[in-house]
Amino acid sequence: MAQLSEDTFAFGGPLMSIEQATALAAERIQPVAATERVALAQADGRVLSQDVVAGLDLPPFANSAVDGYAVRFADLSDGETRLRLQGRVPAGADAAGVVADGVAVRVFTGAPMPPGADTVFMQEDVSLEGDVVRLPPGLKQGANARPVGEDIARGEIALAAGRRLRPQDLALLAALGQDSVEVRRRPRVAIFSTGDELAEPGAALPPAAIYDANRAALRAMVARAGAEIVDLGILRDEPVALAERLKEAATSCDLILTSGGVSTGEEDHVKAAVEGAGALVFWRIGIKPGRPVAMGVVSGVPFIGLPGNPVAVFVTFAFVARPVIARLAGARYVPPLPLPVRLGFPYRKKQGRREYVRVSLSPGPDGVMVATKHPRDGAGVMTSLTQTDGLVELAEELTRIEAGAMAPFLGYDLLIA
Ligand code: AMP
Ligand code: MG
Repeated sequence: MAQLSEDTFAFGGPLMSIEQATALAAERIQPVAATERVALAQADGRVLSQDVVAGLDLPPFANSAVDGYAVRFADLSDGETRLRLQGRVPAGADAAGVVADGVAVRVFTGAPMPPGADTVFMQEDVSLEGDVVRLPPGLKQGANARPVGEDIARGEIALAAGRRLRPQDLALLAALGQDSVEVRRRPRVAIFSTGDELAEPGAALPPAAIYDANRAALRAMVARAGAEIVDLGILRDEPVALAERLKEAATSCDLILTSGGVSTGEEDHVKAAVEGAGALVFWRIGIKPGRPVAMGVVSGVPFIGLPGNPVAVFVTFAFVARPVIARLAGARYVPPLPLPVRLGFPYRKKQGRREYVRVSLSPGPDGVMVATKHPRDGAGVMTSLTQTDGLVELAEELTRIEAGAMAPFLGYDLLIA
């Protein structure tokens, strides 16, 4: 699991963009090498370690897309056509002996096309008179028939290496006859919180203490990012013990992720412990909220020290830690795509950094979503995250933006999917 030299995360510039941070991490961190074969039932969210090539055509045989009547297009005239009804092919039946040659064949959705037939009339569109089918004009050749390989042809890449499998991918793999896939081992991420003021939820709250909020969020976000969690609990602000736990964690995980204790105060012991156990640099990411994120190396294992305030933890996890975990997982990381919304408030900001404003969405009179800013935007205000839908992203160059302007919006589900 040790993979890095101590100067790995050195960065020359004063302020980093999210894109620079993601690119630097991707360049310097290698995905976990081990792979394993998992059953499809366990494969949701796993990352393909190799391309999956279609071993068969989909669909494997030409078939009807509707319940209706299969015909040979060449048998149709310009006006209404009358053909004798002959033969019947339900789904799953063999159509070999049921030739469509001057006749209409009764077929059902998913049934193989009778030999000769290339076009299917929907049953709603025809009328029957005894054993004669009256077929209206106007249907195109090939209508309502699904040709062999229309979905994917044998030999094509169905899903590429680095794909993080979603339910629809599992459907495709199953349709191709696969009951298992080769995936990368999940990265193991050790997480702990630091601070003498932190108490474990469920326990009594001593004076001057607060419950540890960050670890609850981090456990869930790390799991959603596709990693396994090694939960090391709350560590006290005690430098020697901290350094020991860090080194211990490094022997059995691929990433160490902490919150708190990395500012520059004399009580910020995580900073000193990482420096003692390895190397530490600060990435000043040009975003707000989001204090500097500490990046380090402990015994060759990457370390990310997130800030202590819960809102800053959420934002820096989404934009910095999550891409690192994706990289370790061997997943192709695609930054979440913002969608346009209308601002329901004016906003002023400093030039040169990207700001993320916590907002709720509601449909406006013209159907476009209107973003309403949460009234309290402190970095420690957790309800500003629970009572909103996502973040409006205001670009570096902006200094003021008026109500009614359009701006990009990133929903929380997208940010920590
Ligand atoms: P620090 O960076 O350790 O100085 O922490 C900054 C602020 O975040 C302080 O108000 C801490 O009490 C708070 N904080 C740190 N860790 C947590 C945590 N795990 N849960 C809730 N608040 C925290
Ligand atoms: Mg602290």
